[in-house]
Amino acid sequence: MNPDNSSLPEPGPDCADYAICARSLVKRYKNAADPALNNLSLDVRQGEFFGLLGPNGAGKTTAISILTGLFPPDSGTARIMGMIFRESEHEIKQILGLVPQNIGLYDKLTARENLTFFGKLCGISGKKLTERIEQGLEFARLTDHARQPVATFSTGMKRRLNLAVGLINDPQVLVLDEPCVGIDAQSRNLIHEQLTAINQRGTTILYTTHYMEEAQELCTRIGIIDNGRLVEEGPPAALLQQSGMYNLEELFLHLTGKELRDS
Ligand code: ATP
Repeated sequence: MNPDNSSLPEPGPDCADYAICARSLVKRYKNAADPALNNLSLDVRQGEFFGLLGPNGAGKTTAISILTGLFPPDSGTARIMGMIFRESEHEIKQILGLVPQNIGLYDKLTARENLTFFGKLCGISGKKLTERIEQGLEFARLTDHARQPVATFSTGMKRRLNLAVGLINDPQVLVLDEPCVGIDAQSRNLIHEQLTAINQRGTTILYTTHYMEEAQELCTRIGIIDNGRLVEEGPPAALLQQSGMYNLEELFLHLTGKELRDS
């Protein structure tokens, strides 16, 4: 059951076939007793909808931060479509989208102004920018609220706009850190439908969530991490069949234990 990280192939030319390829990532925050990532290795193949699951403090956000170039690992390598940030930051930013856990919008700006700002940050301009903004507003079902400051939005509206911002550069690889936290069933349903459609059009998705039923519904493959290491990976149905567990929540608790994580 427990995959040995070392059994994953070393990054070589074949790593270029993966959308995301992480090898032996280690990250220790200052003054922390234990490393947040402890030799984490992870592959996400092109076209997959990959769910990254783990208890609080398991290392999901740290992994995503490294994979999207927010900060480097202490050691190990992370590749996006075969490229590493140290060498190809500009190229990676052209093809990578990030939807962060904390909503990263400017409250005083309107929905359209936020999309404009982040589009320009990605180097998009002119007609292409106008098109992407209109697509983003439509995608988030916010066309009628385009001129409203984000401060007036509900959490669901903010989450939808946060997602549209992550898609402004039409990424090949989209990374989402708990994009459905604190929203109602309607916004969640819309986001699920939109992400499924984007994935079916060819975008690779890496998705973290604490909602097991969400992972079971959306993901073609999942990885469970705990204490900064991958403890299980595979397609949800295959993992359930192998383990004899009834659902992902049962499997998750079996692998990570029932002890509270109040570090
Ligand atoms: P959650 O599900 O609660 O969001 P997570 O799986 O995303 O958790 P991380 O946020 O990556 O986990 O945290 C991994 C470990 O690193 C935890 O022990 C956390 O307390 C610690 N940690 C995270 N960020 C920092 C930081 N900036 N400084 C010190 N320790 C940190």
